[in-house]
Amino acid sequence: MTTDQKHYKTIDMPFYNGSIGPRLPESILDFHAHVWHPSHFTIDPWETNKKGSKYMVTSTTYDFDSLLKDATRIFPGKTYKAVCFGNPTPAADPVITNDYIGKGAASRPAMFPLMIAGKGLFSGEELEKTIIEGKFLGYKVFLNWYGDDYGDVTIEDMLSPVEMKIADRYHLIVLLHVPRSDRLTNPVVQRGIQKLSEDYPNAQLILAHCGRCYLPDQMKSAAPSIKNLSNVSLDSSMVMDPTVLEILLDNIDSKRLLFATDFPVPAMRGRRVYVMDHWVDLVLEGYSESAYRVQSDNMRASFMAYEIVLALLRAAERIKLKEKEIQALFHDNGMEIIGKVAVPAPV
Ligand SMILES: [Zn+2]
Repeated sequence: MTTDQKHYKTIDMPFYNGSIGPRLPESILDFHAHVWHPSHFTIDPWETNKKGSKYMVTSTTYDFDSLLKDATRIFPGKTYKAVCFGNPTPAADPVITNDYIGKGAASRPAMFPLMIAGKGLFSGEELEKTIIEGKFLGYKVFLNWYGDDYGDVTIEDMLSPVEMKIADRYHLIVLLHVPRSDRLTNPVVQRGIQKLSEDYPNAQLILAHCGRCYLPDQMKSAAPSIKNLSNVSLDSSMVMDPTVLEILLDNIDSKRLLFATDFPVPAMRGRRVYVMDHWVDLVLEGYSESAYRVQSDNMRASFMAYEIVLALLRAAERIKLKEKEIQALFHDNGMEIIGKVAVPAPV
């Protein structure tokens, strides 16, 4: 038995069987999972010294089989469904990426594909054709910067009326990683989201990583800005702090909160914590070096995906959600959004 297998058997599975598995519904929907292949990359994003290249380092191959293998291993006994998409950065070719995602999702059950799209990437005609023919449910918005070099990027720099009119027409999912170091706490970002929500009421906006608010103070200042925007939901990928989610649930209906992982990232063993005013990934040893990643073997740890589940459960318990509402965080809330997408069948 390898060290990894031993860890799985003696630490991960007892923890899963005791604290995670029994509290999750039979089917879980992960609203944020990546899939990629080395052939998608135009530059090796992790071998260059380009600014930001060490921002989030994971493996260069993470295809559908890798995702499903991780999901089966981490959530054994559950039916795993995922909203999936490729690498949304300038390091990958969006056309090749989208083609791979569309085809891969079509041949597998319960994989719901989003195409990489964003301002200036595709014409309206190209977008519409790709959405309809590729059976995409919407967009994962392209990150038009390197790493964390997003200082003055606005929502308007990322999404134009070209993408949004089509999203509004077909009730598409628009999964957006908000820019800027101060995230959804930034008033310019907040206004950008409010404007999209008002101008395109049928588009289904999803803020990745809860608007990137990993810290309670961030969520405290961000949540009021989206309180009344009923077409804006939040995915919980990489959010592991229950207080963040508790503050969010004090502001919005729990139907707008969606369980999500951000695989492959939370297949690492550890937990995202915060120190002073920034998050830090505390992980076991043996992973690649990356920004804001601290490695140590001087702790017990299991998959970060479990910490996301626990944060949701702890927050839900604190605000006294009903059992049915808690279970819905992990499946039904997201499926309802997917069910509203109205893309016509290809001719
Ligand atoms: Zn992601």
